[in-house]
Amino acid sequence: MDLQKLASALIPDGDLLPLDEYEKMYPPRNLSKGAEVTRLAPSPTGFIHLGNLYSALADERTAHTTGGIFYLRIEDTDEKRKVDGAVESVIRSLKYFGINFDEGAEIGGENAYGPYYQRQRASIYRAFAKDLIARGLAYPCFCTEDELNAIREEQTARKEITGYYGKYARCRNLSEEQIYANLASGKPFVIRLKSQGSAENKFTFRDAIKGDITVTENDQDVVILKSDGIPTYHFAHAIDDHFMRTTLVIRGEEWLSSLPIHVELFKVLGFELPKYGHTCSLMKTDNGTKRKLSKRKDPELSLDYYRAEGYYPKAVIKYLMTILNSNFEEWSAKNPAADYTQFKFSVSKMGKSGALFDLDKLNDISRTELSKLTEGEMYEFLNGWTAEFGTDADREHFKDRAYIESILALIMGVGSKKRRKDIERAGQGVRLMDYFFDDTFAPGYSFRFEKDVVKRILNGFAEVYDENDDNSAWFNKVKAVAADAGFAAETSEYKANPSAYKGSVADAAEILRIAVTGSSNSPDLCSIMKILGQERSLKRLSDAGKSL
Ligand code: GLU
Repeated sequence: MDLQKLASALIPDGDLLPLDEYEKMYPPRNLSKGAEVTRLAPSPTGFIHLGNLYSALADERTAHTTGGIFYLRIEDTDEKRKVDGAVESVIRSLKYFGINFDEGAEIGGENAYGPYYQRQRASIYRAFAKDLIARGLAYPCFCTEDELNAIREEQTARKEITGYYGKYARCRNLSEEQIYANLASGKPFVIRLKSQGSAENKFTFRDAIKGDITVTENDQDVVILKSDGIPTYHFAHAIDDHFMRTTLVIRGEEWLSSLPIHVELFKVLGFELPKYGHTCSLMKTDNGTKRKLSKRKDPELSLDYYRAEGYYPKAVIKYLMTILNSNFEEWSAKNPAADYTQFKFSVSKMGKSGALFDLDKLNDISRTELSKLTEGEMYEFLNGWTAEFGTDADREHFKDRAYIESILALIMGVGSKKRRKDIERAGQGVRLMDYFFDDTFAPGYSFRFEKDVVKRILNGFAEVYDENDDNSAWFNKVKAVAADAGFAAETSEYKANPSAYKGSVADAAEILRIAVTGSSNSPDLCSIMKILGQERSLKRLSDAGKSL
């Protein structure tokens, strides 16, 4: 068979260049020894998840700790799954977490290895597929969907491996006449690899994350170009990672099973195989059993969740670093002031199997990280969240920066010996401040004492309260009002003889606290009242009394 003629009949020349032109167009990168070129290669489905961020962080750290390049490629071969704005959303989401690309789709700059959208690279894939046909390493397949289903059913019934291989690869040995007759009758076709492998052979492969693994050689005649001339993932991956000069492919372990296909493709294309690192899936414990994080069941899988909840980006990154490299936590404890970028990240130290995602631990790290901010930095962070996700009332409140900062200094314990860790994420932190504003103060007063007693405390304190009092003057007044209402002015007195009193001074203070904040749990009440000011504090006391 004249393979050259067949190749031209199947893939007309059009805009194809001689193959060595592509090599010249995308020469090896001029980087220092050991520099790794990594990439994130999402499909533009609009759903960017924690697994993407996890991989992206490993990619970014690897590239940037070795003096390499981290780029963004968009795998948009499946037009049906494409969502408008998805690329911008990937870039924006990752940027929120401090992860930036050096080059790639929509990144700007030189972009010498682009285009970075696979749909715009159609001619490269076709040129190489054509060459494989001409070399007898690929062929047209005219099997219909029904025929392929019938093959699969037969294989399933015989308990054989499913797919297009060996005796099942019907179009592999079509005669010249049959092929041209099919073409003449306008039958649609795909291009398949003519696999040279055998399922009898195994080989050892060194994965940068999982270590040595033994895999079976590929013998499947996989589709490389679909009937519309668009490549499959397998083929596009080989061509793109070669010509974009990727040195290390970090991708999910779901791709491990197709690794033998990729090894064969690189071989027949004459390309050097890059290194691969297959990341383990993120798991969570659900009712005592471990399972993969699921798009349907777990909102925390979506990166949008972290932005909408107002997670502190650095906390999420630090948490992911603890899953990526198990020695990160110890390093971080020893170097509390150091930035995570100073840590010596290594792909080889990544976990080999199921990484457990623990939201409680993330929350804990988040509280700790946020407690390190100044009130000014916290204002900036919360204000950023409020602008996008807060209510109109929140945005109005945040216009008074000085007032918010005074609240934050109190909530965070700025200036005290130990910082408070009350703020876990922006969404929850902003709500912690609601009672400082009249329009968001919505108390559900729940007092533990009788109406008259509560009123006596509230009215008594309203009569003597002065916002200029310092803490001890303030507390002495609380004691006096408490004693007047039949409470023990000192806790010790109450403990010694509880039946002699209605309660202790702490119980009396709780009444004031509930009146002012709506809750029996708050930071220092004297400071809260100072922030609220004389007038507003007195109104709170009187409103609480009126509610009874
Ligand atoms: N587009 C593939 C995915 O989103 C990329 C896999 C890879 O990184 O090679 O799963």
